[in-house]
Amino acid sequence: MANPIPLSAPDITELEVRLVTQTLRSGRLSIGPRLEEFERLVGERVNRPHAVGVSSGTAGLHLALLALGIGPGDEVITPAFSFVASANCVLYVGAKPVFVDCDPRTLNMKLEDVEKAITEKTKAIIGVEVFGNPCGMLELAALAARYEIPLVEDAAEGLGGQKGPDPIGRFGRVAVFGFYPSKQITTGEGGMIVTHDDKLADLCRSMRNQGRAGPSYLTGAGLHAIPALEVIPGLGMGLGAALGSWLVHERVGYNFRLSEINAALGVAQMQRLNEIVEARERVAEAYTRRLMPNPNLIVPNISEDTRMSWFVYVVRLTDQFTSDDRDFILEGLRRHEVGASNYFPPIPLLPPYRKLFGFQPGDFPVAESVSQRTIALPFFNRLTEREIDLVCQTLEVMIQRITFAGR
Ligand SMILES: *Cc1c(COP(=O)(O)O)cnc(C)c1O
Repeated sequence: MANPIPLSAPDITELEVRLVTQTLRSGRLSIGPRLEEFERLVGERVNRPHAVGVSSGTAGLHLALLALGIGPGDEVITPAFSFVASANCVLYVGAKPVFVDCDPRTLNMKLEDVEKAITEKTKAIIGVEVFGNPCGMLELAALAARYEIPLVEDAAEGLGGQKGPDPIGRFGRVAVFGFYPSKQITTGEGGMIVTHDDKLADLCRSMRNQGRAGPSYLTGAGLHAIPALEVIPGLGMGLGAALGSWLVHERVGYNFRLSEINAALGVAQMQRLNEIVEARERVAEAYTRRLMPNPNLIVPNISEDTRMSWFVYVVRLTDQFTSDDRDFILEGLRRHEVGASNYFPPIPLLPPYRKLFGFQPGDFPVAESVSQRTIALPFFNRLTEREIDLVCQTLEVMIQRITFAGR
């Protein structure tokens, strides 16, 4: 029996180990030079003047909506077919998620349906590059601009991708990346908000850091100026000016900071981003070459002017298969120690959303049909040709078992 092939695996080299170790030895474990460097690298990569590191992509989405002033009584349009965080962030701020079904080809929100969902209460549109595919984002940005509704780009699956000349992360008024270990790059846990909007960036910086304000606390640079933190026990003489503002909280904020340890990991990963995107591209191309001819499968559809940054490699069974067939295939793959998964159940059909809004099967037919037939295959940078071959062989055998069973 061959070794198990996991669904996903982070790509950590000696560079990551070295930078994290240096940070551990530096004595500065939060709000310091690594965070600033990581922010600079991500901002430069996606051509944005502001980048704000946060503790997760989910926290980033939460802050982006707060900074846009969205709250109770507001509606936010968001995809039915996405990771649950794309909708949970709307609930966090007390607003109402308005779900839009997906286009069966790109799996991104269907543009006509977005337009139909707009009301005078719509205060933001959350656009997701599902599985890293930016198809339709330019058109979505144009639609949002036409209605003067801010587009929040949930770019958590797309770092490194491009549509024409535009990098993923450039489409929204604000965009958010996530760095969970399954993403293109990881910080263990972490996220990044990017924007052109000075005020939005300042608000996000303040709110990630307990509502502290004043320029010195908006960036890591501020804290360098306070070796005086060691002086805290001697506060009796009154707060020093700098130290004082550390204790001033202008608004109710959160602790959504990204530690220096996580940021050091992010710096190393950003230095390797091109290599990582290329490695994933190689794996995706090998899968597509092998699986495209199979009439039972729909492989990812990427338009001409798109440079994909592959998040996952997801194939879909054609419509003659049922969700039970898909589960049978997943089961078979796992039995052969091939890490495979379904991806994703439609968000409105998850228990909290059914309970809150009464959604039923049939409400989002495309998302539902797609999610019943998806199979995410093992996907990570170091997957070898031999492993890819083994995964595909096992998949083909499982599909044959169903088709030969006389259906
Ligand atoms: C991963 C992901 C997130 C959340 O990122 P975390 O860092 O895990 O909080 C948000 N939206 C989408 C579409 C994602 O895939």
